[in-house]
Amino acid sequence: MPLSRFVFLALVLCFMTSVVAAQQAEKEKPAPHVVYVKAGHLFDATSDVLRENVVITVEDERIKSVAAAGEVKIPAGAEVIDLSKAWVLPGLIDCHVHLEARADKLDPIEDVRWTPFKGGFAGVVNAKTTLMAGFTSVRDVGSSPFFAVDLRDSINEGFIVGPRVVASGPPLSITGGHGDMNSFAPAVSNSMYPAEKDFAIVDGPEEVRHAVREQIKYRVDVIKLMATGGVMSQGDQPGAEQLTYEEMKMAVDEAHRANRKVAAHAHGTQGIKDAVRAGVDSIEHGSLIDDEGIQMMKERGTYLVADIYNDDYILGMAQQFGLPEANIEKERKLGKLQRENFARAVKGGVKIAFGTDAGVYPHGDNAKQFHYMVKYGLTPAQAIKAATVNAADLIDRKDIVGTIEAGKYADIIAVTANPLERIEVLEHVAFVMKGGKVYKDELTVEKK
Ligand SMILES: [Zn+2]
Repeated sequence: MPLSRFVFLALVLCFMTSVVAAQQAEKEKPAPHVVYVKAGHLFDATSDVLRENVVITVEDERIKSVAAAGEVKIPAGAEVIDLSKAWVLPGLIDCHVHLEARADKLDPIEDVRWTPFKGGFAGVVNAKTTLMAGFTSVRDVGSSPFFAVDLRDSINEGFIVGPRVVASGPPLSITGGHGDMNSFAPAVSNSMYPAEKDFAIVDGPEEVRHAVREQIKYRVDVIKLMATGGVMSQGDQPGAEQLTYEEMKMAVDEAHRANRKVAAHAHGTQGIKDAVRAGVDSIEHGSLIDDEGIQMMKERGTYLVADIYNDDYILGMAQQFGLPEANIEKERKLGKLQRENFARAVKGGVKIAFGTDAGVYPHGDNAKQFHYMVKYGLTPAQAIKAATVNAADLIDRKDIVGTIEAGKYADIIAVTANPLERIEVLEHVAFVMKGGKVYKDELTVEKK
């Protein structure tokens, strides 16, 4: 047989085998798992109003369709989740959490006692608690290197139960800044942050460049900067600018080049403006923002992520935890101003995304912040959108989460009263589905 014919026959044989294999694979592919969710009242986050009597068809992990009940023929024997007496919403998103942190261990000295393992154990528990509270996505904006990345992956693998995690590495902070171990003897500080493991303490644009690239190398989704001082750190002032404009500009350029967003912790007036000017995607806290800062954020579309609930918890527990008096005083002064300035930012038209700093108060209580967001100027619909469609935009996932629409992940929650009339009902989420899988159901279980 001439070689060319042999090659031809071999190719034909190869082709036929692969066709048969493909047909077999098609046969063996399981039929999609279809579930019909009957939603009595639906807030899908694409508008500010409720839709009545809707059927959400879920196919495997995704939403296949959302339609009026009359338009959907549910086949006999199909799997149905009956939420016809409930208010159904997209899974909530908290853009500012610390899943390795425990609110019952707020004392800064705890940092010295803990090995990374303790944070890891806490993270497993906190992730589950957060999901059960109706938060199907979170952005973790600061933890030990690279806890949030590993947690994200373990959840995605199905090994641990938790929300979808958008992971940052340890925040970038200046020496002596909000992210550093201050007020300890050098021997203690240096053993906490040995130079070769120091991913987070940076001075000067070139060190910033290296740190951002290094964090991207270790697969973070987002870069977190400490633009100003903070409340729970020692020896610094929340209002003081820490990273310079040039340092932040470098971080933003490097992160955006790699398609990563940048979140800037910023309490102080000047630090907020320099961070916005440098091009960060969100200002976290934003406590001392002024009118000029509000205008700048509005013009550039920078999100404000203001943690305006946790003050109540921190001040309520301060004595019990033995927090240093200096920290308590900072919290007291700043908390009040932060709420007032949040209201001004809302009035000024700044884009708002929901973020709570969970970890400084107990994980799972995230929804307690809705009450304050409404009290300080948002309508209930706007507050829910801040925690769904807006948050999804900020975390760069608006094509997959944040609304109840065909094509998105079936991240669906339900409550037993109308959240547009009583926003606090979101503190008691009764049904949680993430990616088509039900994790919590206090509504239909009795009927089964
Ligand atoms: Zn934080």
